[in-house]
Amino acid sequence: EFLTGAQIREKFLDFYAKRGHQILPSASLIPEDPTVLLTIAGMLPFKPIFLGQRSPDFPRATTSQKCIRTNDIENVGRTARHHTFFEMLGNFSFGDYFKKEAIAWAWELSTKVFNLPPERLVVSVFREDDEAFGIWRDDIGIPAHRIQRMGEKDNFWASGPTGPCGPCSEIYYDFHPDKGDAAIDLEDDTRFIEFYNLVFMQYNRDAEGNLTPLQNQNIDTGLGLERMAQILQKVPNNYETDLIFPIIEAAAKIAGIRYGDSDDRTKVSLKVVGDHLRAVIHTIADGVSASNLGRGYVLRRLIRRVVRHGRLIGISRPFTAELAETAIALSESAYPNVREREATIKGELEREESRFLETLERGEKLLSEILASQPAQISGRDAFVLYDTYGFPLELTQEIAEESGLSVDLAGFEAAMEEQRQRSQAAHETIDLTVQGSLDKLAEHIHPTEFLGYSEVQSTVNVE
Ligand code: ATP
Ligand code: MG
Ligand code: MG
Ligand code: MG
Repeated sequence: EFLTGAQIREKFLDFYAKRGHQILPSASLIPEDPTVLLTIAGMLPFKPIFLGQRSPDFPRATTSQKCIRTNDIENVGRTARHHTFFEMLGNFSFGDYFKKEAIAWAWELSTKVFNLPPERLVVSVFREDDEAFGIWRDDIGIPAHRIQRMGEKDNFWASGPTGPCGPCSEIYYDFHPDKGDAAIDLEDDTRFIEFYNLVFMQYNRDAEGNLTPLQNQNIDTGLGLERMAQILQKVPNNYETDLIFPIIEAAAKIAGIRYGDSDDRTKVSLKVVGDHLRAVIHTIADGVSASNLGRGYVLRRLIRRVVRHGRLIGISRPFTAELAETAIALSESAYPNVREREATIKGELEREESRFLETLERGEKLLSEILASQPAQISGRDAFVLYDTYGFPLELTQEIAEESGLSVDLAGFEAAMEEQRQRSQAAHETIDLTVQGSLDKLAEHIHPTEFLGYSEVQSTVNVE
């Protein structure tokens, strides 16, 4: 059954409201917790409750939470399911119901509300969680071979080295049941997509690593709105859902091309533009402005990637503010603040885009000087400076060099890139921001987010 993104959101919240959950609005992308860069999951606003630092106003809550995961930025457009910006639908129990109910409701929602055929669903549990395994098999009736036991990395959640933690259970949709049950490999993302993740917070871990049962057992879950939309709208990826595709079509129109006729590289660029535009409008609407620190840096990097991918698909004029209009129109019914902050969003985009275009132009000038000196080859170092300081994608440098019959020293470029990576390690984008990763570990990395290798004169931002 085809459901729009808005209908999926509504049905989810409604389902849990009918089961005693208080519907709460999405929290800001800027977390209250000053140690966390951006809201990466639906549970983040409730973290103080889970940690026992605050008592809940309601025993059960449900939300559709705006999230940004910069650790997935490289996946954007390359996997069918990852975004920087996405919405996580969640149901939460604060010391109230636990595993049995959480599993039964997740199943009922998936099969009775979203009408997914049970034979298309596969679930995972934590290796040692016999209880969850038993509930799936005996209460729900899933054949044992369709309940996969997984390890700590994917199926055990902790908010830090010590504190509340517990096993997870996930629900996957099978796009190719014809491949048979003998070969179930949940890592195969051409066949399976994880859409619902249930966390059973049942232990406290002490400094020695001992697990003791928590007095207050909690439930924290997340269902990806765009992923459910992909499944129900029967499109090949999240990007072609009604939540994002209109932005892609608008970008294609500005470029004078058509998504459907485009090659894979062009499609990736269009997807990056569609994804990042959403991230950008919500980040600005929630109060971030572009800079070289922390959240401002994330925003700047997103905007510059939009501009760069716009150029890759042949857009040569400023276009981001115009495209923001499409993104705002798509989001405003669920998130009215994007319309309220329209002028700020468009102004910020115009400013950042023109600054970046100037930088690109200075890079073009530098490159023509390099070419005029008639080198045998463009050195890796020069290509890297163009890339890192002037936002020149490698392909652009190569293309221009080729026009003069020159090649680029790729090994040298890679070496310079690797050097830079080492220098800026732990600085920002490489942190594992997944919920399973430790939020506390993340916090250690928030402060040194200063962009290394930047100077005001150079306007540097690495936008690979
Ligand atoms: P994956 O393994 O596919 O990267 P995940 O295990 O990292 O997903 P969780 O941290 O469990 O994801 O988040 C809960 C849910 O939020 C996922 O089941 C998925 O539906 C959705 N989700 C997570 N990351 C993204 C993303 N980058 N883009 C879109 N949806 C996401
Ligand atoms: Mg996963
Ligand atoms: Mg998961
Ligand atoms: Mg992930």
